[in-house]
Amino acid sequence: MAFKDIRGQVFPIARLQGELKNNHLAGAYLFSGPEGLGKKLVAFNFAKALNCLESKTDACDSCISCRKIENKQHPDIHILDAGRFEEIKIDDIRTLQQEIVLRPYEARFKVFIINDAHNLNAESANAFLKTLEEPPKSSVIILVTDKPRMLFRTIISRCQNVKFSALGQNEFEQVLRNGYNIDERTLRFLSFFCEGRIGSAIAWKDQDIIAQKNRVIDFFSSANTANAENSFIQDRETFRQSLSILAGWFRDLYFLKAGINKDRIINIDRSDVLEKLALRYTFNDLESILNGISQSLLYLEQNANVKLLLANLLLSVRKN
Ligand SMILES: [Zn+2]
Repeated sequence: MAFKDIRGQVFPIARLQGELKNNHLAGAYLFSGPEGLGKKLVAFNFAKALNCLESKTDACDSCISCRKIENKQHPDIHILDAGRFEEIKIDDIRTLQQEIVLRPYEARFKVFIINDAHNLNAESANAFLKTLEEPPKSSVIILVTDKPRMLFRTIISRCQNVKFSALGQNEFEQVLRNGYNIDERTLRFLSFFCEGRIGSAIAWKDQDIIAQKNRVIDFFSSANTANAENSFIQDRETFRQSLSILAGWFRDLYFLKAGINKDRIINIDRSDVLEKLALRYTFNDLESILNGISQSLLYLEQNANVKLLLANLLLSVRKN
């Protein structure tokens, strides 16, 4: 894969290609913007383009450097990925600092990609600041985050900020229609549900997302929870996705109740059920459920106990 294969995100890519072309590279970049826009993918392909032996502004995908990076076997490309919900610890930063001062083994640029950089704790952020003040010329650091506000301002100010934004609905649908073989029903769901985050749409397009989202909805609206529980809380990411699906469902109910045109509902495949349910809930019920879901999402980010969150949420969703 190369820049030319990435759909959407025309502006950030054009900017990086301009800097590659003019040899006008910064020592540190901050890729920021909502989750699911392809920031990590662009960062990875930037690492390839920086070191491609054939092309100056993109990865050729066939030279030895491109192939090694693609196969995650390049000794000069480092990706620090502690996990979406894990702190980046001081030891990780120390390892990076020991590595960054050494000359590249074979690359033009050593590249350090730090995913979910907002998870730097205070100690590691402070240590990391020293590296950002004077990164070695032969290295490029890329911080990736969807929560730039959680980063120290001093860190942000030492990076070139490359902003990623969601695509408009038309552009989003066009990208999916032209680039991928997706049926219209799935396209419609993705187009509402992903809110222009093309990376999320691509990640989900091959799963049977319609069946999956319906399983989540049925689980939360049925009284029978036996053996379903595990699959929704097997990890925090799955639980987070389930919460977003559920938020979409209750948003639909709210909109239908408010008399909004059916064209604007997400779960159009279940519009008959939605219409019946809309009569059963009051606006107050729906508002309190939607609040409960947003609270749960917030607590989830703060590492709350998933089982407890699920139990509370079930109480609020089903009491009606
Ligand atoms: Zn190449």
